[in-house]
Amino acid sequence: MPISFLPRFAVLATSLLEWHSVPENMSTIPEIEQVVQRIHQKYQNFDEGDVATYIPELAKADPGHFGICLATVDGHLFCAGDWEHEFTIQSICKPFAFQLALEEFGRDDTLQRVGVEPSGDAFNSIELDPKTMRPFNPMINAGAIAISSLIKKNPPESGVRAFVDKMQMAAGRTLRIDPDVLASETTTGNRNRAIAYLMLNCGIIDGEVDHTLHQYFSQCSLLVNCQDLAMMAATLANMGSNPVTGEQVFDFQYIKDVLTVMFTCGLYDHAGEWAYRVGLPAKSGVGGGILAIVNRQLGIAVYSPKLDAQGNSVRGILACKELASHLGLHAFEFTNVGSNFMQAMM
Ligand code: GLU
Repeated sequence: MPISFLPRFAVLATSLLEWHSVPENMSTIPEIEQVVQRIHQKYQNFDEGDVATYIPELAKADPGHFGICLATVDGHLFCAGDWEHEFTIQSICKPFAFQLALEEFGRDDTLQRVGVEPSGDAFNSIELDPKTMRPFNPMINAGAIAISSLIKKNPPESGVRAFVDKMQMAAGRTLRIDPDVLASETTTGNRNRAIAYLMLNCGIIDGEVDHTLHQYFSQCSLLVNCQDLAMMAATLANMGSNPVTGEQVFDFQYIKDVLTVMFTCGLYDHAGEWAYRVGLPAKSGVGGGILAIVNRQLGIAVYSPKLDAQGNSVRGILACKELASHLGLHAFEFTNVGSNFMQAMM
């Protein structure tokens, strides 16, 4: 029987104001802490999958690393394993870049450049919607590159800075780009270059292709750890406000757009299976991270660099499945009161 998460939590929660971003004095609720530790232990020696090598720098990741972190909307953290270890965010930057595009350009203009249909194709597929010539959605590379073209700025480093600044506000700490991964992606990213030129040819992006790709590769090369990702996810879950700093990071009116696209397209060609088994808006990256959101309740992050054939972290998927089932987090689970806050507090 899943633990009915939020009602129990609401009773035991302490004020987030008593807590600040340092993990040492985090509040814990033993039962949830135990679930996180148990799941970490269970999969610690699970050894399937392969570390991504198509970006040469990613091949250096330690395949043994495995971290989990949960962050609640009232500022509690539950972490296990290598949760402090930094890795590049890769495609987990995509929902945040989509959010920034919506905030800056609004729905109509943003959706001129990218659709919201699951493609069922691989993350790096070189294909546009034949009816509209747009990329299918902002969670695959084509869509994310179209979004990077929108949010890039002049000079190029200012667009990158604007993205990193937002991500720092969501994580609640200073973040930086990994220069080696950025260089590695820039030298070897010819498939993404091909996607960008296809979109230039179809009028989806402007002629500043190198500038667009620099924005995209830089976004992907942001270094984060599990706690950062969990806080970013919790910020989305918390109507755009960072649960610890209280800062309003994202415009609330667009978060539902982002969560919807994450729900249907976040796990590439595994998205349907994920929605069925885990039932949470989520995004994975080839660096080995997975981020998931329980709306109005919590953010989840798992890191383990060994990937399955679809480019998703193997232990990440297993851990999320198990967390969702033990804590009753699936969006349509009867124990999940979702965003019905009043009911949750009763
Ligand atoms: N930087 C990676 C690429 O564009 C991101 C892919 C991913 O994480 O799915 O190939």
